[in-house]
Amino acid sequence: MQDIRRTMVARLMADPAPYLGKTVDVKGWVRSRRGNKYVQFVALNDGSSVKSLQIVFDLAKFSDDDLRLVTTGASIHVQGTLVESQGKGQSVEIQAEELQVYGTADPDTYPLQKKGHSLEFLREKAHLRPRTNFFSAVLRVRHALAFAVHKFFNDKGFYYFHTPLITASDCEGAGAQFQVTTLPLNDLPTDKEGKIDYSKDFFGKMASLTVSGQLEGELGATALGCIYTFGPTFRAENSNTPRHLSEFWMIEPEMAFYEIQDNMDLAEEFIKYCINYALEHCKDDIEFLAEHFDKELPERLKFVVENDFVRLPYTEGIRILEESGKKFEFPVYWGVDLASEHERYLVEEHFRKPVILTDYPKEIKAFYMKLNEDGKTVRAMDVLFPKIGEIIGGSQREEDFEKLQGRINEMGLEGMEWYLDTRRFGSVPHSGFGLGFERLVLFVTGMQNIRDVIPFPRYPKNCEY
Ligand code: ATP
Ligand code: MN
Repeated sequence: MQDIRRTMVARLMADPAPYLGKTVDVKGWVRSRRGNKYVQFVALNDGSSVKSLQIVFDLAKFSDDDLRLVTTGASIHVQGTLVESQGKGQSVEIQAEELQVYGTADPDTYPLQKKGHSLEFLREKAHLRPRTNFFSAVLRVRHALAFAVHKFFNDKGFYYFHTPLITASDCEGAGAQFQVTTLPLNDLPTDKEGKIDYSKDFFGKMASLTVSGQLEGELGATALGCIYTFGPTFRAENSNTPRHLSEFWMIEPEMAFYEIQDNMDLAEEFIKYCINYALEHCKDDIEFLAEHFDKELPERLKFVVENDFVRLPYTEGIRILEESGKKFEFPVYWGVDLASEHERYLVEEHFRKPVILTDYPKEIKAFYMKLNEDGKTVRAMDVLFPKIGEIIGGSQREEDFEKLQGRINEMGLEGMEWYLDTRRFGSVPHSGFGLGFERLVLFVTGMQNIRDVIPFPRYPKNCEY
């Protein structure tokens, strides 16, 4: 058989009419095979759809030997006629005329034999996980969301701005960075005081992987107007939770002339746009995920896009939590950094809607956030989602040179002169936020664990592939 181009299964399923009664070529991987001594049915999946295409092999035409290698996991090319299906469960199928086996998969060793492997098992087989229905559905949704992110900002006149992955600045002024070095770790050069001599290191100074592109993003926004970043972010925090990864993707828009209200409007519009885009373009995948993992998923997604988010100052949030009469694991008081259980109480039990919490105590937020008139709180905004907790963290930035310099000195941050130049020269009110891409994918797919929405998850003590 000639090796001609394939027609994608998704195309045949979505609009079979032009192909019915015609010869088509399909190529993909065998998900399963069953049948009797007259006919064999093969479910073929080519990655374009969560639905597999049924291939019918008439045993008058194909011998047992012809089909011997057509086992779960094998890759094949089938030429045949697309016909309306007699059986239930699918609308069209292919009556096979020609078969070519590209690669076999030994049934004794191919790990993905049966349906319904646990997510934990599949995480250990992450290199083959994309071949499962569940994970390929997640990956298609992930792709659609990434595309939606770019489309949303491009249509709004934002510029995609690339901030560095290797950086010498520590954005949050906190630890949790992965160091980048070429120094020999078993024989570190030291200076006269016995400290590590970074002048001998690759960059001539200490460098790390970025924890956020925001500070560099502000340089873009104060030149181009509105920018967004969308790239990998690295945090060495030892949080073994279902919502944290050591390597994740973050989207960070930064907008000149935006105040906190504009920032909240943008965040809400942006998230709703992305969810709507997925609902529109990933119907089958979302239906599949809902059916297998989370029955309430479609309703929850619709609910979020159809309702206004609640906007609430932190101080009022604390009051609601204190008056709730609920026993939390972590105590609630004004000044506390809210734990996930607090955030989820507000969202899931009290308001039953996404909440944008604003005006946090300055002590628990980053140095660059704009101070309110009360001198105690800053113009921060965290977007809190059902099941996820914090999905976005953002703020209006302090545009006043003296105040910002004061905060930088208070916190003992060094090497920030380049950043202060944005306030020294042509400073403007501006705002921005960071959305953890995987938390968005988590929400839209209804998965429970963030390790199940990225192809190769990195987390403490795990760095496979
Ligand atoms: P959290 O309190 O949940 O750890 P954070 O306050 O550290 O989040 P920010 O520094 O504000 O988060 O980062 C912006 C966004 O990036 C968060 O709202 C979240 O969506 C995402 N994010 C932060 N840390 C991680 C992580 N380790 N893995 C995946 N996403 C993350
Ligand atoms: Mn964190």
